[in-house]
Amino acid sequence: MAITYLKQAQPRPAAENSDIRDTVAVMLANIRREGEEAVRSYAEKLDGWTGPIVVTDAQRRAACNRVSPQTKEDIQFAHANIRRFAEAQKATMGECEVEVIPGLIAGQKQIPVSSAGCYVPGGRYSHIASALMTITTAKVAGVPHITAVSPPRPGSGIPDAIIYAMDLCGADLILNLGGVQGIAAMAQGLFGSQPADILVGPGNSYVAEAKRMLFGEVGIDMFAGPTDSLLIADHTAEVETVAWDLVSQAEHGADSPVWLVTTSEPLAKGVMARAQALIDRLPEPNLSAAHRAWHERAEVVLCGSREEAAQVADRYAPEHLQVQAEDLDWWLDRLTAYGSLFLGKETTVSFGDKTSGPNHVLPTSGAARYTGGLSVHKFTKTVTWQRCNAAASHELAQRTARISRMEGMEGHAIAAEMRLQPETV
Ligand code: NAD
Repeated sequence: MAITYLKQAQPRPAAENSDIRDTVAVMLANIRREGEEAVRSYAEKLDGWTGPIVVTDAQRRAACNRVSPQTKEDIQFAHANIRRFAEAQKATMGECEVEVIPGLIAGQKQIPVSSAGCYVPGGRYSHIASALMTITTAKVAGVPHITAVSPPRPGSGIPDAIIYAMDLCGADLILNLGGVQGIAAMAQGLFGSQPADILVGPGNSYVAEAKRMLFGEVGIDMFAGPTDSLLIADHTAEVETVAWDLVSQAEHGADSPVWLVTTSEPLAKGVMARAQALIDRLPEPNLSAAHRAWHERAEVVLCGSREEAAQVADRYAPEHLQVQAEDLDWWLDRLTAYGSLFLGKETTVSFGDKTSGPNHVLPTSGAARYTGGLSVHKFTKTVTWQRCNAAASHELAQRTARISRMEGMEGHAIAAEMRLQPETV
C-alpha cells in the first residue's frame, strides 16, 4: 500500500493502566465488603459529595423546574430522535419459529433484561446526551427497571439538565454517584436499586475498568477506551470544516486520537497548518485537552487512492468515521469497520454525539472490528425454545442416543431413550 504518514501518534505510556487496575480492584473489594458505607466514603473523597445519594421525586421535580424552556425543548428534540431510531431497531429484532423436521417446532424470542444500570459521565463535562442515549434505549428495549447514576457536583449534586434528561427518558431511580462507586452500587443493588443485569454507558478509565472487572457477574455494553475518530477526505473536502471536525473530537480528552486519512496532499497540509489556530479558540480546559490530543495522538495519513483510504479506515476500525468525499454511496458500500458512520460535509460527529438519533455509545480502540455500539439488542437476550410431537420425538431420541453414546455420555443417551417408551410414544 502506498501510504505516507505526514503525522504519527506518540507511543502510549504503559504504566498508567496497571495503576488504574489496582485502584479499581481495591475500591470494588471495599464496596463489596462494606456496601453503602464504602460508597458514601468514596463519593465524599473523590467527588466532595456528602449529601443524599438517592435523588427523591421532590428533588427531581425541583431540578426539572430549574431547567430553561429552551434547554428542555432541545433535550426533548434529541430524546425524540433517539427514541425513534431505537424503536426502528426494535422493529428489526428477530423473533422466529420454524418446523425444523416434521413435528419439531423451534423458535427464538427476544427478552429484555430485568434491570439496567446506566452510567452518565460527568467529571469534566455534563454529558446530558449520555443520559438520553443509554436510558432511552433501555426503555425502548422494554427493560422494566432502570437505575441511572452520574457524578454529583460538590454542594449541588447531579446537574439539573442531566436530572431532567434522566427523568424524561424514564429512569426509575437516580443516584448521586460517579466513578467506580456508581458502577458498583448499580451492580450490587445498593441504595434501593435493583441489582443491574447489565451496566452501560461511557466513562473515564476508572469507570471502564470497573465495568471490565465486573463483566461476567453482570453484562456490560462493551469494553470502552478513550473516544476516537477517523475522517476520510478527498480533494473536494474543505480545510476549515475538516480541521474543526478533528479538533472538536480532540476536545474529548488528551488521550482521544483523531485521524485524518486523505487522498489530497494540499488538504492534509492545510489541515495540519490550521489545527493549532482552531484549538487556541477553545476555552480551557478543552484547549489543553485538544492540544495534547492533537500533538500526541493525532495522525495524518496520505493515500494514493480511495481504496487505500478505505483499507486504512478498516484497519483502524474507528469509533466514529466521517467521510467528506465524492460518491458517498461507494463509501457506504465499501467501509466495513466503524462504530458509527457520518457521510458528507452536511453532517458531523457532533450531531451523532448529541441529537441526531443513532447511539453515541460506541466501540473504541479498534473494537469496531467485532462489535457495533449500544442498541436495543444489547438490552435484550436472544433465547430459543423447542417442542415436538411424538413422531418427531421418536426420531430425535434414536439419533440423540447414538450420538450421546459415541461421545461417552450415557446419561444423555438414557434420557433420550426414555422418549421411546410406549407410554411416551
Ligand atoms: P466520568 O463520570 O467518567 O468520571 C468521573 C468520576 O471518576 C468521578 O465521579 C470520580 O469518582 C472518578 N475518579 C476520578 N479520579 C479518580 C481517581 N483518581 N480514582 C478513582 N476514581 C476517580 O467523567 P470524566 O472523567 O469526565 O470522563 C468522561 C469520559 O467519558 C471521557 O473519557 C469521555 O471521552 C467519555 N465519553 C464517551 C462518550 C462516547 O460515547 N464514547 C460519550 C461521552 C463521554
